[in-house]
Amino acid sequence: MGHTETILISLLNLSPGSVESIHSSTDESNHLSIFVTLARRKMDCPYCGNSALLSKGFYTRSVSVPNRAFEDISVSLKVPRYKCSCGHNISDSYAMSPANSKD
Ligand SMILES: [Zn+2]
Repeated sequence: MGHTETILISLLNLSPGSVESIHSSTDESNHLSIFVTLARRKMDCPYCGNSALLSKGFYTRSVSVPNRAFEDISVSLKVPRYKCSCGHNISDSYAMSPANSKD
């Protein structure tokens, strides 16, 4: 993991262990985008306590990073999603902590 990635993870209040992968790409106009994928972890349904949740892919959210160095960089967070047999869809709540989310 490179220096930029390490800084980004700490700015997002994520622990390195909760990040599965991180990569960046630059488009034709030299705009840098960084994609962070969060690792799946063991969790229980907050509605019924069921611990046998089904994986339901990921959803992607844009976050803004509170640092000038990241002002012109797009950061996307891929958050694991789960489905419970009680019918609720659950996404990992630790991904909700960035206070300056755009959505
Ligand atoms: Zn449930």
